[in-house]
Amino acid sequence: MARTKFVAGNWKMYTTSAAAKALAAGVREKLAGESQVTVALCPPFPWLTLVAETVKGSPIAVGAQDVFPEEQGAFTGEVNAEMLLDAGCRYVIVGHSERRTVIGENDDLINRKVRHALKAGLSVIFCIGETLAERDKNNTEAVLDNQLTWGLKGVPSDQVERLVVAYEPVWAIGTGRTATAAQAQQVHVFIRWRFSQLFSNAAGQALVIQYGGSVKPDNAAELMSQPDVDGALVGGASLKADSFVAIVKAANP
Ligand code: PEP
Repeated sequence: MARTKFVAGNWKMYTTSAAAKALAAGVREKLAGESQVTVALCPPFPWLTLVAETVKGSPIAVGAQDVFPEEQGAFTGEVNAEMLLDAGCRYVIVGHSERRTVIGENDDLINRKVRHALKAGLSVIFCIGETLAERDKNNTEAVLDNQLTWGLKGVPSDQVERLVVAYEPVWAIGTGRTATAAQAQQVHVFIRWRFSQLFSNAAGQALVIQYGGSVKPDNAAELMSQPDVDGALVGGASLKADSFVAIVKAANP
């Protein structure tokens, strides 16, 4: 089945307002005419509107890096899905390993975030991945199975099409170590199979599965040439317009 490749940039806690604007403008300018690949930029919360305005009128979408699963109320410091939509977001990243490990998010909170964001109308980039110790113990599939099962529990079937899964082996994020194309392909096949079991065969075939973990211009083409690697979630290399655009172009050789 032909799935549209999807490359998203996770800017994490980097950029100033000026740098965010320049980066979004640079990506927009260098990608002019590129329409075969879905592209999203995920800046820090304070720059969402600015980035949305900068890419307005282009096919580039905007995503947030987190969401809080409540409608409104006394939740100091938190931001809900309606606010993200209002700020111009189409996507939100949920379950990133940095939030799982540094902030301590568990599968239950992640599941509430996924359901809240989908219900509001956002598309969710749902991140899963194993640590090096888990891989070394041959537990990769069990860990991913758990993350998929609990993280996506209760997602209504009519919202599944707004889910994207990002396979991000924790040992490859920000480390310069990348899964080989064969390793990524093997895991993506497993994810698609498990997703099909959880939802339906059609949903599994349609699912866009990004690979994330030290994707760079020089490894992107090989990774994304694998039949089940449908794009990339890019951290470090998304902070420079040239390298991010090179990765987008590698998705569409
Ligand atoms: C990420 O933050 O999702 C990521 C994959 O980071 P990096 O590309 O820097 O490894």
